[in-house]
Amino acid sequence: MEAGWIRLLAGALLWVVASAAGAVDCATIQAKYHCPADGRYPLHLSFDDGPALQTMDVLDVLQRERVPATFFILAEKIDCDAILQQCRQKAPSAATDGSQCLEFQQCQTRRQILARAKQEGHMIGSHSYSHLHYSTVEPDLMALHLRDARRLTMPYFTTNPPLFRLPYGDGWFNRKKDGHVMQALQELGFLHVDWQLSAFDWDENNQHDDKILENVLTQVCSRKTGGVVLFHDGVDNQMHEGRLFTTEHIGEWIPAMRCVVDFKPLEYFVKGFRKW
Ligand SMILES: [Zn+2]
Repeated sequence: MEAGWIRLLAGALLWVVASAAGAVDCATIQAKYHCPADGRYPLHLSFDDGPALQTMDVLDVLQRERVPATFFILAEKIDCDAILQQCRQKAPSAATDGSQCLEFQQCQTRRQILARAKQEGHMIGSHSYSHLHYSTVEPDLMALHLRDARRLTMPYFTTNPPLFRLPYGDGWFNRKKDGHVMQALQELGFLHVDWQLSAFDWDENNQHDDKILENVLTQVCSRKTGGVVLFHDGVDNQMHEGRLFTTEHIGEWIPAMRCVVDFKPLEYFVKGFRKW
């Protein structure tokens, strides 16, 4: 055989192997998580605690995979005026326009990332100002945080009424205890949005191998129903860096999830709002 033909065959073989490695083996995934081979459960991805620098990577994946998502964001991460103020207090001689304040520059980047999320059609809601258990917070401070969250997130909201999700799953677990918080949210015109499934991606014990994918698919397939699933693109006590295990692997999990779920927009599960 001529050398040219051998090279061509070797190239073709390499291409086949590479394609197989990149392809998702749905039969294996369906069998592993006890999911049906036919039929898909509806699922909506939601991401809390951002925006973070790596939210950009999540947006790239969502764009590539054509998947709609909702981001519940912490207003303190886009409160660039407050961040600049802190910079000035630390270094009064620094330029007042923020050009020498790294935290301010990072805040501006996070705002740009959020603007991109909105422009690309994702839903954006508030996740409060600074991720507190609001039922345990002094009522005046609670009211201030909710008002500030609304004011700062207003340019980025995508719905009417604006969406809100309480930190720590308090809308779920403490809805009764948080009666006055839910009331305050209602008075401010927010629509509270819960989740039905959790990836438990905030738990470091889950941040290995395919554990987080397993968490989602075992819930979906054992309950035989989909819903809104909770992921995290950000970290509640970290301004700029994201929930890295999620932001790095969501691009692998989405094609695998697709063996079992149909990705739906938020309005498939949540009624009572209009998109802007
Ligand atoms: Zn949170």
